[in-house]
Amino acid sequence: MEKNNSGAVNKNILEKTIDSISEKENYSIVGYFIMLALYIAATIIIKLTSGSRATIEIGGSTVAISSFAGVFSALANIFIVLIVIYYRKLGYYTAIAALILQLPMILIDIPHHKNFSALPGLFTDLCTIIAVTTLHKKNERLHNYQLRIRDQAVTDMLTGLPNRFACSELIDNLIKRDERFAVVLIDLNNFKSINDTLGFDAGNKVLSEIASRWKNIADSGLSGTVDFINRLGGDEFSLVIRSYDSSDNILNTINKYENVLGQRMTIDGCDLYISASFGYAEFPADAKNFDRLLSYSDAAVSEMKRLGSGNHILHFTPDLLKPERTLEIERTLRTALDSDNIFFCLQPQFDISHKLRGFEALARVKDENSNILRPDEFIPVAERVGMIDKVEGEILKKSAVFFGDLIKKTGADIILSVNVSVKHLMKNGFIDELKDILEISGIPADQLELEITESVMIDSAEKSLHCIEEIKKMGIKIAIDDFGTGYSSLSYLNRLPADLLKIDKSFIDKMNTSDSSKQYVAAIISIGHIMGFEVISEGVEENDQLDSLHDIGCDFIQGFIWGHPLAVEDAERLVLESA
Ligand code: C2E
Ligand code: MG
Ligand code: MG
Repeated sequence: MEKNNSGAVNKNILEKTIDSISEKENYSIVGYFIMLALYIAATIIIKLTSGSRATIEIGGSTVAISSFAGVFSALANIFIVLIVIYYRKLGYYTAIAALILQLPMILIDIPHHKNFSALPGLFTDLCTIIAVTTLHKKNERLHNYQLRIRDQAVTDMLTGLPNRFACSELIDNLIKRDERFAVVLIDLNNFKSINDTLGFDAGNKVLSEIASRWKNIADSGLSGTVDFINRLGGDEFSLVIRSYDSSDNILNTINKYENVLGQRMTIDGCDLYISASFGYAEFPADAKNFDRLLSYSDAAVSEMKRLGSGNHILHFTPDLLKPERTLEIERTLRTALDSDNIFFCLQPQFDISHKLRGFEALARVKDENSNILRPDEFIPVAERVGMIDKVEGEILKKSAVFFGDLIKKTGADIILSVNVSVKHLMKNGFIDELKDILEISGIPADQLELEITESVMIDSAEKSLHCIEEIKKMGIKIAIDDFGTGYSSLSYLNRLPADLLKIDKSFIDKMNTSDSSKQYVAAIISIGHIMGFEVISEGVEENDQLDSLHDIGCDFIQGFIWGHPLAVEDAERLVLESA
């Protein structure tokens, strides 16, 4: 799709949306030709019968053939009227042309054949011209009125933008086409105070001004994506974004809308600076119908307002639907940080000959009742409420101190792998934090490994790369975690100066179900090796998976088959036994 032609594309979509809302008068052209043919046939029969002096016997009575001319004349008029009704402009011009063309024929006929019986025909012809002209005029008025009603049904009267109904029709259309798109719900911040202080008129002017700024962006195609902006009602707008490649494109587009919104607005002599919260959900990844998409983006907006953290854009995640549970986890995390209830397990990693390579530190949180929370539950919450650096900082420090002591005690040449989220990695001061960790734990840098996911390259590639290069300079290893589950791109992979590729468990689960799944894992391993990485398979549980991984040249194994996540004492025992 032409990205820089988004204005035209949107107009087209809007037209289609309007047409789908009220039935469009689009009758088949075949019907037109049939009616025209019937009209011509009736006219020819009139011509043949009107001058005839012949008679026929019907039920014992003698009937003049010429009297049938009246019947066919009535039929011809019906066809001409139907053409005008169904084929509006085309029908009208056809009817007028046909009727006017008949006039000279009738006029020539009268003096030529001294046939004054054609005079009523002339009169009928003129009356029909007047009738179809009146009919056409009325038809057009009705049609224009219908178009106006149709436009009103899909347009927001205050701003002129498409309304909620148009938005839902558009989204239904895109869903039918199975096209990927994002729905952004935009809620203006503190709009109520504008209404309260400046009045409703000023409030309306603000809404119109915002609408026109946003419409300009949508029509100009400046955002690089194809956008469709609507007003849902009140101070709520929605933006449908299409033709994007990554979440970066979505964020860029939203930033464009946010930037023009933030520019000064002078209303009734007052300078105003407006801001908004943008929550979005994607089809088909997050939801598969209009109501869900809208309510999920609404959940993201509400969460942002609840946190009041200064974030303006939030992508929906399923845990937003469980606000009570989220709040509970957030509370548990805060208490756990204060009361030293954040700890770690160590899951062993082995080379393919079962020699210990090292451990991955996996975060755990204990709540007030000594229940253990799993990271899949608390890591996303920690990320959202801005506590991830504190939680991970604890895990990094505690695991590094334990590991430093362990290798000092045992002299084992093993590696400690720690998960680091993008938000933590990008935080100013992360490099200093790492330096401190190396110093207090005494771990040689090349025995520490950080696990990052491919999303670091999607969220902010240049900044991430810079940070990863700094880490590499310190001598610390980099592993790419959960490889294959994100937007795996070879060009991203090629730019990442990593040491280890971790194939996600989902690929290992499937690898022996078909030859192609196995070939897929083999291909990832080959590509990893070509790029100079070592490769580890995660979640290995079965002997046949182990055999296959051995056959296709996988370097390392992590999985329940050789080791569950262990408490620190068990991990120490394993190191001593392996020595
Ligand atoms: P991950 O980094 O991919 O860690 C591997 C996860 O797979 C661990 O789950 C581990 O217990 C599980 N696992 C390993 N082998 C097997 C197996 O053979 N079968 C099965 N069924 N599972 C296996 P866990 O500990 O629940 O961690 C889940 C995820 O939470 C981790 O996935 C990681 O993404 C995240 N996580 C854990 N700790 C941290 C942390 O400190 N920071 C961040 N950002 N994320 C963390
Ligand atoms: Mg990991
Ligand atoms: Mg993983």
